[in-house]
Amino acid sequence: MEKIATYKTTNYLLNKYNGHAKKGYGQNFIIDYNTVFNIASIGCDMQDCVIEIGPGLGALTQCLALRAKVVYAFEIDPACIEILGETMKDYPNVKVVNHDFLSVDLDYILAMLSNTYDSIKIVSNLPYYITTPLLLKCFESHDKLAQITVMMQKEVALRFTAMVDTKDYNGLTILAQYLYDATIAFDVSRNIFSPQPNVDSAVVVFKPKPLDPTIKDTQGFFTFVRQCFAQRRKTLTNNLKHSGYDLTKVNAWLNQNKPGQTIRAEQLSLDEFKSLYKEVVQ
Ligand code: SAM
Repeated sequence: MEKIATYKTTNYLLNKYNGHAKKGYGQNFIIDYNTVFNIASIGCDMQDCVIEIGPGLGALTQCLALRAKVVYAFEIDPACIEILGETMKDYPNVKVVNHDFLSVDLDYILAMLSNTYDSIKIVSNLPYYITTPLLLKCFESHDKLAQITVMMQKEVALRFTAMVDTKDYNGLTILAQYLYDATIAFDVSRNIFSPQPNVDSAVVVFKPKPLDPTIKDTQGFFTFVRQCFAQRRKTLTNNLKHSGYDLTKVNAWLNQNKPGQTIRAEQLSLDEFKSLYKEVVQ
């Protein structure tokens, strides 16, 4: 099979199968081989089992197949499945699964795959309309994934690497920074997609960090962070009061750590959130 990530092959395949890029499924196909090559290069190695979300016509899948041991590619659109039957026929290490990734039992799949493979990684050019729920689903399996490499809208990517007290900093930043070392590997122009989206993109790499043993209930910590950010314009104290917390402990922490200041959640670093959580909840 020739290179799939080109304008010519993408058009040829869509015409041949009487298909079109479906907006409802977030279908913006990559038409630049260098981009898919670079994503695959940072996303996996020869010994890896890769899970790809949304292979589309197979542009990125082709490069993953050449680089990884095996690729499980989950695609929601039956029309793409038909095309993948042609584009992936020369790559026996690619297993295409026609399924909505949001509804797969990821923990079960990872448990099965881990019987055979030592290192399982996620690589995807994500459908932008469900970037956050898809990522949250992957984050839930934090301990079972060796790495997550995903292309997303640039403005969403900036949240994962945002500094404290900036507009991009929010609860998702804290969650990602708690679980991962997140880095933007490279920016991607809107020009290399067909159809062209209205936004530029970036490839983000999430490398898992060990969990902090002093936080005994990770989910409880995430719930607390979410409650702190519940209403961005409100102060931290107001958000916590609204969620029913004992403000004596909150105020004691604030007096000691941020004396004389009106604090909003976006002004606290990850370490400060951990300290506040231990004081108020744990
Ligand atoms: N990987 C291809 C590429 O880079 O050219 C296509 C990427 S396109 C941005 C997103 C792909 O995800 C589409 O093929 C779309 O059909 C698929 N998709 C959308 N929602 C999905 C879901 N819930 N589960 C699995 N695949 C999904």
